[in-house]
This record gives sequence, C-alpha cells and structure tokens, in this order.
Amino acid sequence: EAIENHEDFNKGRCADHFSESEPILEIQHLGKKFGDNLVLLDIDFKTYPRDVICIIGASGSGKSTLLRCINMLETPSSGLVLHRGKHIPATGAHTADYRSKVGMVFQQFNLFSNLTVLDNCMLGLRKILKLPKNEARARSIKYLMKVGMAPYINAKPHQLSGGQQQRVAIARALSMEPEVLLFDEPTSALDPEMVGEVLDVMRALAKEGLTMIIVTHEMAFARDVSTRTVFMDQGIIVEDERPEVLFTRPREERTKEFLTRFM
Ligand code: ADP
Ligand code: MG
Repeated sequence: EAIENHEDFNKGRCADHFSESEPILEIQHLGKKFGDNLVLLDIDFKTYPRDVICIIGASGSGKSTLLRCINMLETPSSGLVLHRGKHIPATGAHTADYRSKVGMVFQQFNLFSNLTVLDNCMLGLRKILKLPKNEARARSIKYLMKVGMAPYINAKPHQLSGGQQQRVAIARALSMEPEVLLFDEPTSALDPEMVGEVLDVMRALAKEGLTMIIVTHEMAFARDVSTRTVFMDQGIIVEDERPEVLFTRPREERTKEFLTRFM
C-alpha cells in the first residue's frame, strides 16, 4: 500500500500525466495594461493539483501582476481566469468566494501590526469563513504549529524577526485552507540568514502536495522544488518547462541569457 501511495503521489506531481486530472486554474489569453503600458500579453497556463510552479524573470517582467490577476486583486484587461472550469468575473459574490480559495503570501508579510500572531491568523477565518471562535482558534494554532510559530501566538509582529513574520503570514494563508497558494517573492525582504527557514517551510508544503505558484529569485529552490518552472520576460511566458529541462537546456535564447546572469 505504501508503494501504491507513493506512485499516486508521483503521478499527481508528474508533468507527463497532466491529462489525467482537471486543472484547478486555467488562464486563457490573459492581458493586462496600465494605461498604454502593456504589462501582460496573451498569457496561457494551467495549474493542476499538486503543481508547484516557480515563476522566474527579471524585475518588471510582469510576475507580480500575473499573480495579482490570478487572484483578482487586479482586473485583467483581456482574457479569462477559470477556476475548475468556471469563469471568474472581476467582481461579485462568486469572486469573493474564489479569492478565499486562492491564498497569497506577500514579500512584505502584510501582517496587521496591532494584532497578535494568533489574531492575525484568526481574522480571515472569523470574518470571511465565519468560523466560530473556538474553531478559528484551533485551526490557527494547527497551522502555526506547522510553521513552528505556535510558541509565539501572543506576540505582536514587531517582536518577531522577518523570517518569523513570514512564517506567520504563511500560517495565516494556510489557515484558510486554500486550493492554491500564491507566493510573491516571499524571501526577498528577508535578511539572508532567514531565507532558509522560510524556504524550508515551503519545501515541506510542496512535499505534502499543496498546490503553489511561487514568484522567486531563489534559483536553487526553484530547481529543486518546482514541478514546472516558468520564465517570464516583458509580459510573456517565454518558457514553461520541467526544472531539469529549463535549468540545464533551455530552448530560448532569452532564458539562457537570464540564467547565465544568475548561475
Ligand atoms: P515584476 O513583479 O516582474 O517585477 P510587475 O508585475 O510588478 O513586475 O510590473 C510589471 C510592469 O507593470 C512594470 O512596468 C510596472 O511598472 C507596471 N505596473 C505594475 N503595477 C502597476 C500599477 N498598479 N500601475 C501602473 N503600472 C504598474
Ligand atoms: Mg514583483
């Protein structure tokens, strides 16, 4: 049985078996412009259960805007976002429901500074999911334990290091039990000695099969952990490949140039 489970685990993660399950998210011909500035052009991609997609690319290439369009923090200028085959409009009750299923972890943590660690985690559970207090508390503690932050439930964010704050932000996002978790450069604001503890948490989540889309400059992490790596340049997806392919024999000249600057 253990072997069978292991095979199932790998099947779910393997790019070659995509056709066997339905995508959670599908982005079709997504475009975004700010005034005359075309920031995303005709983006297409799908996210399947257990995918860990790392998005890499130079600053200004549109990575954050793509994440923000995926969870409808930005309204796409054109194209569609489909969630389990259903079109998600830019506003409305359905959109709010969708947003609660797509979590987001930001570069700057975005914790509420006046609230304790526990209250930061409980807030969305109470206000959005309308969970009773006891349940919200138990669930928050469960996920704070998972990221090693349960001993700090009564601390305020300013009493914590950057790495600890980011782990709380991850626990807060996990508490909502999202179907997909988006990360926008989660380690870019951290001192170098704290990057590892946050990447370790993310690596453990990947192992458990959480579906994630991660914008990152941590190339070694992307190479080790992603099931697919997406290289973006000037608003387009240049290459979307298994990491062992993208990092060792990229097809596109632009990908090669970008990688040689980093590695
Ligand atoms: P990345 O995350 O890859 O660095 P962004 O998605 O943040 O790239 O930005 C892509 C482009 O979109 C940049 O030229 C940026 O200036 C522009 N941009 C992003 N957000 C806005 C906004 N809210 N208003 C106007 N321009 C924006
Ligand atoms: Mg960005």
